[in-house]
Amino acid sequence: MRYNLTMLKKTDPQIAKSLAKEINRQRQGLELIPSENFVSEAVLEALGSPLTNKYSEGYVGKRYYGGNQFIDEIETLAIERAKKLFYAEHVNVQPYSGSPANLEIYFSLLQPGDTIMGMNLAHGGHLTHGHKVNLSGRIFNFVQYGVNPKNHLIDYKEVEKLAKKYRPKIIICGATAYPRIIKFKKFAEIAKKVKAVSMADIAHLAGLIIGGVHPNPFPFIDIVTTTTHKTLRGPRGAMIMCKKEYAEMIDKTVFPGFQGGPHNHTTAAIAVALKEASLPSFKKYARQIVKNAKTLAQSLKDNNLTLISGGTDNHLILVDLTKTGVTGKQAEKSLEAVGIYVNKNMIPYDQRTPFNPSGIRLGTPALTTRGFKEKEMKIIGQLISQVVYNPENPVILKKTARQVKELARSHPLYSKLKI
Ligand SMILES: *Cc1c(COP(=O)(O)O)cnc(C)c1O
Repeated sequence: MRYNLTMLKKTDPQIAKSLAKEINRQRQGLELIPSENFVSEAVLEALGSPLTNKYSEGYVGKRYYGGNQFIDEIETLAIERAKKLFYAEHVNVQPYSGSPANLEIYFSLLQPGDTIMGMNLAHGGHLTHGHKVNLSGRIFNFVQYGVNPKNHLIDYKEVEKLAKKYRPKIIICGATAYPRIIKFKKFAEIAKKVKAVSMADIAHLAGLIIGGVHPNPFPFIDIVTTTTHKTLRGPRGAMIMCKKEYAEMIDKTVFPGFQGGPHNHTTAAIAVALKEASLPSFKKYARQIVKNAKTLAQSLKDNNLTLISGGTDNHLILVDLTKTGVTGKQAEKSLEAVGIYVNKNMIPYDQRTPFNPSGIRLGTPALTTRGFKEKEMKIIGQLISQVVYNPENPVILKKTARQVKELARSHPLYSKLKI
């Protein structure tokens, strides 16, 4: 990777300029979007490599193009590393991203109109878990479960009741905005009772699972999908992991059923991220993510904000803004103005709409990668609360923006990258 963007500046100054501005935005702000992270320079090198030039339709040893001996080496390493880290029987590293990976599972096991169970989007589920605007919800008959209105925890009794009533062929667990531990074993037991296949979407949790701070879905769950770019800290991509009996069916759906050539530069970068995840330093990182999230949660509460479920067990926090008088959209915008990046999010039983919901979602993976610890989390909680309660106060916003820049400067990002 050419860290100074020399060629890019010459060939396409417009893109080079926007790219440079984006790198500076990442450096100067505080990234609290829980699905984002900062990959290592080694991952960037694999990603920006000539591996992007190669076509490799098929699988290791069975390609539809010549010249794949080195791609086979790379894909094999990615698969073997993932198997070892997750205790998976079978791994496919070719899905282009998390959303296609999920659809690939549905199309492997179901016919249009078949029943699946997934978590409601407003309660923390993902669009691809059956939302009506998503292909998943348009093609399959989704039954949605949610969280308990009082404690905001997944109501396993309700899940079992719904499963017995609707007899889904797949039960999905895993979420995009659920701040607590997901009991994979419990989901697997419920699925067994109704003869459904159990599926876990661990897009947000993959890094925490490898790091030992969240339970592993294996050996309980049948099929696991994950993105590779969230807590796992790899490139944008995905993996499907499953028990042996589903391997052939799923591989056939991924290719040739759904996709063409795999993105080999991504595969290599996934392999690099998995190598990094096998090191002791990754366990430390995962533990620090949770410590940081707990400290940030406490600081937000100490500064008069209400949290869904009262806190967090993982990397993310969902703030209920109802009592503050600002909406999620306004809070996101005011925080952005001072360089703090969060995203507006629905909260369970939200009375508002997805485009202007009652909550914001924040998480600590990206800041943890940058080296932030409990001391800074405490301060960041104060800053967030100040902005939320004074979203249009120019004096406070200006002062906060200055503090944000100082905090960011004290934890440099991509310091070898000269632009
Ligand atoms: C992020 C996410 C996805 C989708 O991943 P993309 O790569 O954005 O398509 C799927 N499921 C869950 C639970 C997610 O959090």
